[in-house]
Amino acid sequence: ADASLEGRVAFVTGAASGIGRAIATGLVARGARVVLADRDAATLEPLAASLAGSVPLVLDINDGPAVAACLDRMPEPLRAIDILVNNAGHDIGGRTRFDLGSADDWAAIIETNLIGLMRVTRAILPGMIARGRGDIVNMSSISALRLVPDQAPYSASKAGVHMLSDILRGELAETPLRVIEIMPGLTRTNIVATRHRGDQEAAERYFERFGMALDPEDIARCAFFALEQPAHVQVAQMFVLPTNRW
Ligand code: NDP
Repeated sequence: ADASLEGRVAFVTGAASGIGRAIATGLVARGARVVLADRDAATLEPLAASLAGSVPLVLDINDGPAVAACLDRMPEPLRAIDILVNNAGHDIGGRTRFDLGSADDWAAIIETNLIGLMRVTRAILPGMIARGRGDIVNMSSISALRLVPDQAPYSASKAGVHMLSDILRGELAETPLRVIEIMPGLTRTNIVATRHRGDQEAAERYFERFGMALDPEDIARCAFFALEQPAHVQVAQMFVLPTNRW
């Protein structure tokens, strides 16, 4: 039988928006208790209020001391995390030809997408290992494996997440813990508008140019498929593309 997510404790980064929000919402619908971790406090609070069984945690995954202490800030029953969804990420400033890029932009992207993800994992994984159970879902991107022009630092950060996921899976091979990497193709979220500095029209033009995109719920469904597998099944990687069929 499929594993149930009922009563499991999940920790979702970037939960205030897009894919993270869809995953958090679906986890709550499946009876999980969910820590909504995001730096966007204004969106987080009303979202948590609307999702029974969730708690907001204002957290910047680039803030080392805050991440290291994040479990201490949570109610005791929510400290034993069963499911970590490493989803927070951005590509601000990273969309340009490499020879025109700046080291500050590269650092900001790699700091969040790769080091931030590592920081959160470092804070939560030891508890999982000690309890002998846990699932980690890492949100990378198709650009971890496939050439997408003009996004060198983003692709490099996601390729880092891809390899890190592989390494972790290897290190944890003797344990019941599972590492699930999801590589989404273009998905309709704020990340595109954010990249265009909040210009929704530019974001729409971007989607029009490609003609097809996934919805955040499509990626969430992939996460649930993997998480609901029986304990002996590890869906290691999912590479997800949109089609132009509706
Ligand atoms: P969104 O921008 O909609 O959501 C990302 C969320 O993460 C935002 O709430 C954002 O907050 C938050 N976040 C960013 N940086 C931090 C930080 N340092 N600490 C805490 N929270 C942070 O984007 P998506 O839902 O699209 O992105 C989710 C993941 O999916 C990302 O890792 C992205 O790279 C990946 N992805 C997305 C694709 C797409 O086409 N949309 C395709 C492939 C992968 P804020 O609003 O303040 O920035």
